[in-house]
Amino acid sequence: MYDYLIVGAGFAGSVLAERLANEGGKKVMLLDRRSHIGGNAYDFYDDHGLLIHKYGPHIFHTNSPDVFNYLSRFTRWRPYQHKVLAQVTGKLLPIPINLDTVNKLYGHNFNSEQLAQYFASIGEKIDTIRTSEDVVVSQVGRDLYEKFFRGYTRKQWGVDPSQLDKSVTSRIPVRTNQDDRYFTDEYQYMPLHGYTRMFENMLDNKNIHILLNTDYQDVEGFVPYKELIFTGPVDEYFDYCYGKLPYRSLHFKHVTLNEEWHQPVAVVNFPNDHAYTRVTEYKYLTGQKSDKTSITYEFPSAEGDPYYPIPRPENAELYRRYQSLAEDMPHVHFAGRLGTYRYYNMDQVVAQALTLYKKLALRTSAAETIKRTNGQRKKVSPAG
Ligand code: FAD
Ligand code: UDP
Repeated sequence: MYDYLIVGAGFAGSVLAERLANEGGKKVMLLDRRSHIGGNAYDFYDDHGLLIHKYGPHIFHTNSPDVFNYLSRFTRWRPYQHKVLAQVTGKLLPIPINLDTVNKLYGHNFNSEQLAQYFASIGEKIDTIRTSEDVVVSQVGRDLYEKFFRGYTRKQWGVDPSQLDKSVTSRIPVRTNQDDRYFTDEYQYMPLHGYTRMFENMLDNKNIHILLNTDYQDVEGFVPYKELIFTGPVDEYFDYCYGKLPYRSLHFKHVTLNEEWHQPVAVVNFPNDHAYTRVTEYKYLTGQKSDKTSITYEFPSAEGDPYYPIPRPENAELYRRYQSLAEDMPHVHFAGRLGTYRYYNMDQVVAQALTLYKKLALRTSAAETIKRTNGQRKKVSPAG
């Protein structure tokens, strides 16, 4: 009998398996329908010996010392500050939009103060910021919105930014200085030997039994367990009883080129050209040396594996219905980006999993205390 059956060996499932087995002393079965652990963060060495990310670029960044310290038990790190350029009107310009973006795009020579005044003059006045369009046009006006955000967002999400929750484009700041880093978090690193190695270290415990190429449906009813943790799509767990939750998918084209470098930074975004949104060149992330270089094109798609929950009010409403079903099941726990239908980064998923572990551990210790107390009462009563 397993104490826990955990569905999905991505960050959510693996962190929970590690905590439950290592700290909780529990017996865990961890299964995944894919042929590998790591979920979407899985990386591997391609035929040319270059470490690439099967499901697109994963850059670790967090402001949480707890998350960083926790993962540091399983990996050493390579400091890495992520840089992205967007191809707009034939030029490669920094994104997030900053002082250099505006000066190079329009041929201005603004300083930071002048740029702040410029943004204030072109930003549209919107009383309540609700959508992803509102976020951008209110900060930088319509021209920059159309050049950098509208096309990219329509391609990536299959809907106009005016139909998407403000949280999507709010991920990208606007700067008036020359800071050209994609993230400003306190901790920005790549796992030194890759994500998969980090997951292997995390799951190296004799009380964690890993079963790959196995769907939950294949084992349900065959594997005895006490509690279930489900990190796949929450609507799938409930047989889509309220209808399908919309997810956005991607198709990846991995290519190795016979040249040392392909582009000036790790990621180049294409808001207005091509069917793909961005191209990633992995050697920037890994620091590997080679006379070849491996890159990945990302083609957004409605069909395929679910990668992105789509933040829109009606989807949040549908998710809440599934969530209330989930709340009525004390022995089934949902976690992760798909299990809780949240557009979460890796560190947020780790934090969520650590919080769930604490809740489960508290519950176990409360149950043990009750058992112990009942046992003592039983022993006491015959004599009394
Ligand atoms: P997943 O990694 O999706 O793991 C869920 C696992 O469950 C999968 O392996 C799946 O096969 C398995 N599963 C599902 N259903 C079943 C079933 N019925 N039976 C068996 N197995 C099942 N985050 C960052 O912090 N930085 C980034 O740079 C970044 N870049 C990203 C780029 C892309 C293209 C994508 C798609 C995501 C990116 N993310 C990034 C987000 C990151 O991938 C997620 O936050 C994180 O991987 C989510 O972990 P998870 O365990 O919730 O889900
Ligand atoms: N975005 C955009 N243009 C860009 C970069 C981002 O319009 O050049 C928008 C787009 O809607 C995207 C969102 O901002 O989906 C979040 O971008 P991020 O890079 O965080 O996306 P992810 O890495 O999660 O795919």
